[in-house]
Amino acid sequence: MQEESGLEATPLRYSGVATLLRRPLVNDPSGVDIALIGVPYDGATENRPGARHGPREVRNMSSFTRSVHHVTRINPYELCNIADMGDVNFLNPFDLQQCFADITHFYRNICAAGAVPLSVGGDHSISLPILRAIAAEQPVGMVHFDAHTDTSDHELGNKYTHGTQFRRAMEEGLLDPKRTIQIGIRGAQNSEESWHGSEDAGIRVIYMEEFTALGIEATLDEIRTVVGQEPTYVSFDIDSLDPAFAPGTGTPEIGGLTTIQAQALLRGLAGLNLIAGDVVEVSPPFDPSGNTALVGASLLYEIACVLSDAVSRNNAAQ
Ligand code: MN
Ligand code: MN
Repeated sequence: MQEESGLEATPLRYSGVATLLRRPLVNDPSGVDIALIGVPYDGATENRPGARHGPREVRNMSSFTRSVHHVTRINPYELCNIADMGDVNFLNPFDLQQCFADITHFYRNICAAGAVPLSVGGDHSISLPILRAIAAEQPVGMVHFDAHTDTSDHELGNKYTHGTQFRRAMEEGLLDPKRTIQIGIRGAQNSEESWHGSEDAGIRVIYMEEFTALGIEATLDEIRTVVGQEPTYVSFDIDSLDPAFAPGTGTPEIGGLTTIQAQALLRGLAGLNLIAGDVVEVSPPFDPSGNTALVGASLLYEIACVLSDAVSRNNAAQ
């Protein structure tokens, strides 16, 4: 019917099965350049839970995403074969170590097929089992957006939580602190331990006040200086944003990034040797308007643009 009328058949945006960035849902990673993966796990959350529902709502709000970037004119779907590879399947969601093992196992299969993972959490603890799969042979650098450093030694006596994962990643040799930069850190803590956890390790910490003073371009210069051209992971905790923009998260802190700042910062990662990324801590039960999930989907698209550029350059160099 549409061919006869001469109209192009464009799927209705509100119709069909929702997928991450509206990519095809596939099971086989062979031939996939970038694998979008949902990690519906929030068992390491110490305050408000709900991030286990993040992937499903980011899929829903992905209906609003399109293909060609309005600034860079990048179309990530022309640069790379990008697919939604579904969710990590958990054998026993009550067993944290088993869940971490399930995540690592899933990502090892993705990486073995030559695909680059771009993940949607889930609480921030999921970055540790992801790094176990992708940084097993060589520690990676990281550009980390967050209100919190997530480098505490423990929370409430527990070594594996969404506030300790990057301390463990350094201890396990997965993360190079000298090539790690954290942006957006703020909010009172009950001790200085989580800040010392980063600063003592040699991580470059850009507190929110320093970011405000530096501005976007100088911050991007600092990011490039710290991570260089070696393999680099991007981790975006949605609570790096001000809760005015992203209220639906477990540990909101006022005085955060705006969405337009976050877009500019992520866009500015173009040219780095990006090898994977994640967007975490979207908690739909605390997001009655759905706006946090919309922001999550939109920033996932921003990362997909710079990641697809990096992946296509790496593929061409091989
Ligand atoms: Mn975090
Ligand atoms: Mn956080």
